Amino acid sequence: MRTKQKSLKFYRKIYMFVSLITVIVLLMVCVAQFVLGRIMETNYKNLENQHNSLLVQLSQAQKEAQKGVEYEELFRRQGEEEFPYSKQYDHLYVKEEPRQVNTSKGQKIAYLTFDDGPSDNTLKILDLLKKEKIKATFFVVGHMGKEAKPILKRIVEDGHTIGIHSYSHDYDKIYGSVEAYLEDFNQMFEMVYEATGVKSTVFRFPGGSINAHNRMIYQQIISEMLRRGFSYYDWTVDSQDATRNPSVEKMMGNINASIGRQSRPVVLMHDAASKKMTVEALPKIIRAYRDAGYSFDTLDHREICFFPYQAEPGIPGK
Ligand SMILES: [Zn+2]
Repeated sequence: MRTKQKSLKFYRKIYMFVSLITVIVLLMVCVAQFVLGRIMETNYKNLENQHNSLLVQLSQAQKEAQKGVEYEELFRRQGEEEFPYSKQYDHLYVKEEPRQVNTSKGQKIAYLTFDDGPSDNTLKILDLLKKEKIKATFFVVGHMGKEAKPILKRIVEDGHTIGIHSYSHDYDKIYGSVEAYLEDFNQMFEMVYEATGVKSTVFRFPGGSINAHNRMIYQQIISEMLRRGFSYYDWTVDSQDATRNPSVEKMMGNINASIGRQSRPVVLMHDAASKKMTVEALPKIIRAYRDAGYSFDTLDHREICFFPYQAEPGIPGK
C-alpha cells in the first residue's frame, strides 16, 4: 500500500515537473516571438524610413538635375542672344580684373557691408571706418538722387568698395521681369558711374539673391547678370539692424554668434537714414571682431557668397 502511494507521489511530481517545464518553455517561446516580432517591426519601420528618405533624395536629385538643364538652356540661349533684354544696355557690361581673392587658410577676415544708403548715417560710418582704418563695402540705392553724389564720391575716395543694390528698392517693380530688373539696375549703375567714375562690378539683390518676390525669375536675372560680368553677394551674418525693434544688444548677440564659427563672415548692416542704431553699434562690432583676431576687407577680395533662400525679404532688405 505504501509503495503504491509512494509511486503515485513520484508520478505526480514527475507530472508537475513536466507541466512546469512545458509552461516555462511555452512562455519562453511566447516571449521570444514577441521580442522577434518587435525587432522585425523596428527593422521594417527603419526600412520604410530609409525607403521614404531615398524617395525624397531621388525627387530632389531629379529637381536639381532639371534645374541644371534649365540653367544650361538659359546660358545657351543667352549666349545666342535670343532674349530681347540681352540686346539692351550695350554699355552694361563689366570686364572683371582677375580677382585678388584672399583665401589663405587660418586668416580670419570680416567683411562689413552696408545696404540701403547713402544717407547722413553713411558719413558717420565713413568717419568711424577712417578712424579705425577699415575698408568696407556699400551697396547703394537711388532715393537721394543727385544729393547723393558727394557721399558716393567719398565712399570711393576713402577706398571702400561701392556696389549696386537697387535704384528704387521696390520689390514688386524690380522683380516684375528681367527687363524691369535691368532697367532699375542700370539706373543705379549709371548714377554711381556719373558720381564716382567707377563701374561697380559687385551687387547685392534687394532681399537676397533668392527670395519670395523673385523666385519665379531669379534664375534668369542671375544668368543675365553673370553673363554681363557682375558678381553678387548675399551675407552670412544678419546683424538684424533692420528688424522692427533693433537693439545694440541684439545686434551684438548676432555678431558674437558668428565669432569663432565663421572665419570669413559677411556682415549685413544698413546705412539708411533711420538706422541710427547701426552707427551706435558699429564701434562695438569692430572691437568684437578685432579682439577675436579678425582683420577687415572689402567684398571684391572675397570668394562669392550666397544664401539659398530668404523667406522674409522685407526684414533684412529694408
Ligand atoms: Zn536693401
